[in-house]
This record gives sequence, C-alpha cells and structure tokens, in this order.
Amino acid sequence: MGRRGSKASGGDNPDRPPPPRRVELSEAEWRERLSPEAFRVMRKQGTERAFTGEHWDEKRPGTYRCAGCDTPLFDASTKFESGTGWPSFWAPVDPSHVAEKEDRSFFMRRTEALCAVCDAHLGHIFPDGPDPTGLRYCLNSVSLTFDAEGEGGEAPEPPDSAESAGPPRPPGGP
Ligand SMILES: [Zn+2]
Repeated sequence: MGRRGSKASGGDNPDRPPPPRRVELSEAEWRERLSPEAFRVMRKQGTERAFTGEHWDEKRPGTYRCAGCDTPLFDASTKFESGTGWPSFWAPVDPSHVAEKEDRSFFMRRTEALCAVCDAHLGHIFPDGPDPTGLRYCLNSVSLTFDAEGEGGEAPEPPDSAESAGPPRPPGGP
C-alpha cells in the first residue's frame, strides 16, 4: 500500500483512513454558502454560545450531517446528555469522516474536530466522555444539520381499519 501525499488534513493521525471525498471551496464561496454564524464557527474556528444552538437538546433518532458539505458525521445513537449546552457524541459515524487536529489556541491544548471532507471546524474532542470510547465530541450545533429518522414524509399511514372508515356497506345479497 503506497502512502503518498496523505498530509491533507488532520495530519496528526497517519492511520486515519482517507475521507470519502473532498470539498474545497474558497473563503468567498464558503461565505456565500453559509450563514454568518456558521461561517464564523466553521471557517474561523468560532464557538457558538452554550444552550443557544439547535441540536444540544435534540433527542430524536437520526443523522447529523456537516452543514458545509452534507457528509454524515454523527448518529443520534452516539449522542449523550453532557450538560454543556452543546451537542455531544462519543463517536463519529465513520472515523474517516471526522478529522482531528491539535489546537493550542487560548493557551490550552485541545483536540479540534473537523469535517474530514471540507475541513469545517466542528468543535473539540475531550477525554471525559462515556463508555465505550471515553471521548466527548463537543460540537457546535451550527456546524451540523439534523436528519430526523423517518421524517421524509408524513406520519406513517395507519393500517386499514374497515370498521371505522367509510360509510357502512349496505347488506348485500339478493
Ligand atoms: Zn464538511
């Protein structure tokens, strides 16, 4: 297996499988595509205020996707109540979809979590999460879009109940 030029992003972990694809846009294109708040967080390593985002209290099953490139990043089955006011997960959907990078800003040493496909800043990874990984992916809601499971259409059709639906059939027969 030749390993060449695999220095793209998240270069801290050479064993990480490569992302499924790459999305690379200019800063101007991102600015156009994202809301000002999403741009600030995702492209400028910002942080939304706790308890203000859309997903921290979301409990439905479903998939969280990158708000920049639509890559599925986290599944609701790995989401947990962290009490921080930010959506928190203990593992990504696929390790190749989320990149990690050492972040030494603000005189702290933290691990940044990024979308491996478009390099969007998602949040940080802390080693105080629950089993089975012990990790806490602490993310900004604005970096994620949520697909609630089975919400493609209306509520599922109730099974036909001949008794209650429609006018009563007239008694047939000759
Ligand atoms: Zn992305």
